[in-house]
Amino acid sequence: MRKFKTESKKLLDLMINSIYTNKEIFLRELISNASDAEDKLYLKSLTDSSIKLDEDSLSIRVTPDKDARTLTISDNGTGMTADELEANLGTIAHSGSEEFKTANAEHQGDDVDIIGQFGVGFYSAFMVASKVRVVTRAAGEDVAHVWESDGLEGYTIEDGERDHCGTDVILTLKEDVEGTDGAEGERYSRYLEEWELKNLIKQYSNYVRHPIQMMVTKSRQKPKPEDAPEDYKPEYEDYTELETINSMTPIWKKRGDVEQKDYDEFYKSAFHDWEDPARTITFHAEGALEYDALLFIPGKAPFDLYSKDYEKGLALYSSNVLIMDKCADLLPDYYNFVRGVVDSPDVTLNISRETLQQNRQLHAIANRIEKKVTSELQAMRDQDRDAYEKFFENFGRGLKFGIYSSYGMKASELADLLLFWSAREKKMVTLAEYAKAMPAGQKAVYYAAGDSRDRLEKMPVVRAALDHGCDVLLCTADVDEFTFQAMRTYEAKGLPKTYEDDAAREAAEKAVADGAEPEVEDRSLELKNVAAGDVDFATEDEKKAAEETAKANEDLFDAMKEALGDKVTKVTVSARLTDAPAAITSEGPLSLEMEKVLAAGPD
Ligand code: ADP
Ligand code: MG
Repeated sequence: MRKFKTESKKLLDLMINSIYTNKEIFLRELISNASDAEDKLYLKSLTDSSIKLDEDSLSIRVTPDKDARTLTISDNGTGMTADELEANLGTIAHSGSEEFKTANAEHQGDDVDIIGQFGVGFYSAFMVASKVRVVTRAAGEDVAHVWESDGLEGYTIEDGERDHCGTDVILTLKEDVEGTDGAEGERYSRYLEEWELKNLIKQYSNYVRHPIQMMVTKSRQKPKPEDAPEDYKPEYEDYTELETINSMTPIWKKRGDVEQKDYDEFYKSAFHDWEDPARTITFHAEGALEYDALLFIPGKAPFDLYSKDYEKGLALYSSNVLIMDKCADLLPDYYNFVRGVVDSPDVTLNISRETLQQNRQLHAIANRIEKKVTSELQAMRDQDRDAYEKFFENFGRGLKFGIYSSYGMKASELADLLLFWSAREKKMVTLAEYAKAMPAGQKAVYYAAGDSRDRLEKMPVVRAALDHGCDVLLCTADVDEFTFQAMRTYEAKGLPKTYEDDAAREAAEKAVADGAEPEVEDRSLELKNVAAGDVDFATEDEKKAAEETAKANEDLFDAMKEALGDKVTKVTVSARLTDAPAAITSEGPLSLEMEKVLAAGPD
């Protein structure tokens, strides 16, 4: 007996004792694994000539056995070697086991949340099964292996037999639980019933690419005997027949004919998410290049999004044949969270990754996808702000990186998708909203960078800006200031026009009074750290007063400088402060906070 790794064990405990009401999704998970295994074998066969494969032969079989109380899900995909069995089923498959551990500590006893946070896949079988047996034979091997576990302490792996490559997952279903006054019962035996299984397959796995087949009982009329009497009544008999349960028509081909809940189910089953997508985008292109695209913006960031293991990309099909499951060229890095499918009869089949990268067609599709995602995000920002803020919390960091890593080149596309915390409004605002709310005469977008909003709010320079009517964006993410540095300016559109001379302004004011639309203009606003040495909100008079005070107290400042020594470069009177007695600031474009980051160096 081999023991499960600690994290796996915690997850298994959770599964076994689960009160999660949606236990039936175990079937979707196992079917999706079967389908993945068949995709993998198919993709391998494209490059490995030793694998002879007829794509049409790939199928998934679901077999209930009431006498044995087992439910078997079989596939003829890649299968697993003994080592793979150990690695994939002995420990949590995902690289997220660390995250799982921390989250698990936080959510003690909170099943649904944990199950919702991780695609716990295979182990979900233990929500309904008291024993799971996996018989598998890897493509290219001639021995099979059997993995078996009751989900408690550990599992066994032994040699076994199987005719062809592929995997059978055999669940021994738990005993039914009678309902009591306080608690609802559980009829696990429903997973042995034909109609129930059919419904579940249709509900959760309808768009799986491979046929999901089941022996179903049907009734037919017996042939009428030759010597049938006058008053012969037709007789019926039962027979069984292998039936494909899922529709298999790709969902992205069923334009206009699909309900959101079907997209949601497809998304969850195809992309291993437990939450509905935040947005679904579908489009069809015709003309020089024909294709269908079905894209999803997830409701939540996958736990590994910001790790180096994360692979962006969309599944690429050519007329319903899978070419690549993660075609990275279809998405820019800053939209790496987008999941989905592109299907084009025009993309050449069997082309290798290298030639794909050169493919101009892919480029055209990628451009269109980028525009679609951008406009969907804009619509979300304008029409459903709460949802957009949630989106931004999940994926905003990537958008900022998009600007930063392109040295500001991508700012024209991405800047208006960013949100920052407004010190004055006490909520997230866009740069456009910030610019619109500026008092006449404000020439820059002011921000302050640091590690907490609380502390930033108390900074004397922030208070001074607010006292002078200028809002300040409080930046607490490490990437914020770098993003602003890369952008340098924000191109504000449609600001109230400013007039250099009084006569022109008065004329404009009169025109507005007479019913004309107020004039607007586009302006380039500098992005300025409010703590930078050259920022000030003081009036000429205030500055003059400060200068005079400085001169009158020269001796005092010299003494202070001497006392502080190398810790400061100079001590002076400032007209920038309102209620605080003193402030530390930096000279040059870098804020104190950023200087700290740079001084600390890479860790
Ligand atoms: P995921 O599918 O998200 O990777 P699972 O827990 O569902 O996570 O499965 C864990 C791993 O076990 C899979 O990544 C795969 O390598 C392997 N696996 C599960 N089921 C099968 C199967 N039917 N055929 C081949 N490999 C499988
Ligand atoms: Mg899975």
